[in-house]
This record gives sequence, structure tokens and C-alpha cells, in this order.
Amino acid sequence: MAETKTVHSPLVTYASMLSLLTLCPPFVILLWYTMVHADGSILQTWDYLKQNGLQGFIEIWPRPTAIASKIIVCYGAFEAALQLLLPGKRVEGPISPSGNRPVYKANGMAAYFVTLTTYLGLWWFGIFNPTIVYDHLGEIFSALIFGSFVFCILLYIKGHLAPSSTDSGSSGNIIIDFYWGMELYPRIGKNFDIKVFTNCRFGMMSWAVLAVTYCIKQYELNGRVADSVLVNTILMLVYVTKFFWWEAGYWNTMDIAHDRAGFYICWGCLVWVPSIYTSPGMYLVNHPINLGTQLALFILVAGILCIYINYDCDRQRQEFRRTNGKCLVWGRAPSKIVASYTTTSGETKTSLLLTSGWWGLSRHFHYVPEISAAFFWTVPALFNHFLPYFYVLFLTILLLDRAKRDDDRCRSKYGKYWKLYCQKVPYRVIPGIY
Ligand code: NDP
Repeated sequence: MAETKTVHSPLVTYASMLSLLTLCPPFVILLWYTMVHADGSILQTWDYLKQNGLQGFIEIWPRPTAIASKIIVCYGAFEAALQLLLPGKRVEGPISPSGNRPVYKANGMAAYFVTLTTYLGLWWFGIFNPTIVYDHLGEIFSALIFGSFVFCILLYIKGHLAPSSTDSGSSGNIIIDFYWGMELYPRIGKNFDIKVFTNCRFGMMSWAVLAVTYCIKQYELNGRVADSVLVNTILMLVYVTKFFWWEAGYWNTMDIAHDRAGFYICWGCLVWVPSIYTSPGMYLVNHPINLGTQLALFILVAGILCIYINYDCDRQRQEFRRTNGKCLVWGRAPSKIVASYTTTSGETKTSLLLTSGWWGLSRHFHYVPEISAAFFWTVPALFNHFLPYFYVLFLTILLLDRAKRDDDRCRSKYGKYWKLYCQKVPYRVIPGIY
């Protein structure tokens, strides 16, 4: 199974896999506890843990209650139903390493619209108050942590017993198989794509739902919403709207086309996205900071600009590939490399590599506006505490590692053509620096 070849040394790979498997779950709980119950102060949580030790930690870890499980099951079932039932254009994904081409129904934007209007409608008509979600957030994260572990075990078993396509297989190592996954495109039946559910309809959708929840919670607490929360919520919603607008494009990216369905991607999207990605908003609920109109507008415009540039990078690459290079890039014919490669079945194919536009600035320039946008939706929290910036730090590490993983994968796929691209575009992420 070529995909499980490790980029780092085996020791570093095993150590990082095992530490992520064991440290991420308690981290989610500690982050929630600090944001909601310790004023966002790492020092306060640290003092509490120093005084109360392991027993104290066990006490703050909420038990997964019935109400939390009900909220998760209703939300998950609703999203699964929308994924299956809403109409959408038939879209083909990229050809997989084994030569399969997955087919999807592009109904993400419709699902996003239905989800948010239903959620706001339930609140408006007094049927369900989103503050219940905030008030049970710790229990929800706790239930998600355990439930998603079980989900990943089921994925592992399915990968062994009933894989959906030939894009699956074992590395021969149980930890790698569980962590990186067994199947590239696991499905239930012919149509229900599990990665679309975990990554898009559960994970990314929960980001928008929780952003709205935090806003409503502050409104119900204070009778108004501070401009810091407004800027944070609007930017996160613009980002998630962009995501669903471009969802079919996401199905061509590494997450879907290269990373298999295992703990790394699935647990990450089911637990890490709702908890860590939304954490700046979680902090702001209890910190109604007032920025003033000018500063708020400046941050808002800067954030929207970054989200637009990130979108345009992805759009440019996909438009270039879709038209087979017959498009304009920044008003000119694109410069490109025609790169051939051999599939796992031994066929020779070609891909085009764009070497102008955003993709001529650096090989992963799109990560720069991605990280900057995250900074702009966090900075309304100002600088009293570090923790709201954890997501920005995490994203920077994730994307720098991803740039290296992607470079290594492309080097082994395209060989001398990738070398040529590196000569033409020498920087990996930040032009002139890295
Ligand atoms: P992409 O998959 O979109 O791009 C990398 C792939 O594009 C490569 O694997 C290669 O695939 C192809 N490629 C590389 N260079 C070129 C080129 N010059 N011309 C044409 N094709 C090229 O990257 P990501 O999945 O990392 O990112 C997609 C989006 O998701 C970005 O906006 C990113 O910021 C965002 N993202 C957000 C994260 C978050 O947690 N917030 C995490 C990760 C990504 P091939 O084999 O087809 O040649």
C-alpha cells in the first residue's frame, strides 16, 4: 500500500501517531474547560491541575450524558439524511491510484443552507434553544471523543472485511491501519460516502453551527452581541460558506483523494474540527470585547480578503486542470509543466502542473492566506490570553507538515518533473522565505 509509506523516520512516525492518539482526546477536554470555566487562562487550569492532580482532571472530564448523545445523534442523522436526499449535480472525483473514479452528488451548499435555516428557525420559533448546545458542550465533546473512536474502529473492521473499492488495503501494521485508515473511499451502499459525511457534513457543518451557537449564547447572556464576536462569527461563516460553495473542489484535494479514512482524518473531522477549530468563538462567549467600528471593520475586511485569496488559489488550480491548461491565469496564458507518471496498475498518465499565478509564487502559497484568515478571526480576542491562538498555531504546524508531505508525495509521483517545478518555483510555502 504505497500511501502508508512514511515521510518521517519510523521512530518519529510511531511516536507522533501514538502521541496524537493518546494526547488529542484529553487536550480537547482541557481546552474546552479552560475556555468555558477558566477564563481562557492556561495558568488557571495549570494551577487547578497542580492542586488536584489526576483526580482533579478526571473530575473536570464531563461524562457523555444522554442529552449530549441525543444532540449528536439528531444532528448526525439530519446531516446524513440531507446528504442522501437533497438533489445535487453528479460530480466525478479525480482518478484514484487504483484507477477508480468516485462519483458524488454535489448538494453541500443546499445542505449548508437547510442546516443553518433549520437551526435558526428552531431557535426563532422557540422549539430548540442553541444555548443548550453551549451549556452541554463538554458532555458533547466527551461523547464525540468516545463515539468517534468507536466509529474509527468500525472503519478499520470494514476496511478489512468489506472494503468498498480496490482503493483499500492493509500496511500490515495495526496502528498504521487504524491511524491512517484502510480505505480511500469507504461507502455505505453505493451512494453514501463516509468521508463526505465525516469531513464535510458533520465536521465542517458543525463549525458553522457552533459559530452561530456561540453568538446566540452571548446574545442570551448579555442581551447584545459584542463586535468582536460578530467579526469572529462572520469570518468563520464566510470561510465555511466558501468551503461548501467549493465542496466539489474539496473532493479533489489531499484529504479526500490521498488520505485514507482513519483516525487522522475521520476522528479529526468529527472531534477536532468542532472543538479546536471553533475555539476562538468559544473563548469570546465569555469575553465580550469591544473593538470599535473602525478596528472591527478593518479586521473583517482583511479576513475576507484572505479567505478570497485562499479560495482563488484553489479555484485557479482546479480551473487550470479542468480546462487542461486552456484558461487565463491572471489575464495571461498559464505557464506549465506537462508531468507524466505511472499509476499503481502500471499505466502511464500525464498531469499538468501550473507554474504561474498563485502557484508560481510558491508551491503551497494557498496555505499563507489560510493561516492569515485564521489569525484575523482570532484577533478580535485581542492578546490577554494565548489559548484562543492555539488554532492558528496548530494550523501553521499542520499546513507546514502537509506541505512537506505533499511535496514528498508529488516528488515520488512525478520524479524529474517535480524537480523541474521545484527549480522554477523554489519556495515551498512563503515566497522568499521558506
Ligand atoms: P490541494 O490538494 O488542493 O493541492 C495539492 C495537490 O495539487 C497536490 O497533491 C497535487 O496533486 C496538485 N498540485 C500540486 N502542485 C500543483 C500545481 N502547480 N499545479 C497543479 N496541481 C498541483 O491541497 P490541500 O488539500 O492541502 O488544500 C486544499 C484547501 O484546503 C486549501 O485551501 C487549504 O488551505 C485547505 N486546507 C485547510 C485545512 C484546515 O484544517 N483548515 C487543512 C488542509 C487544507 P496531483 O496528484 O493531482 O498532482
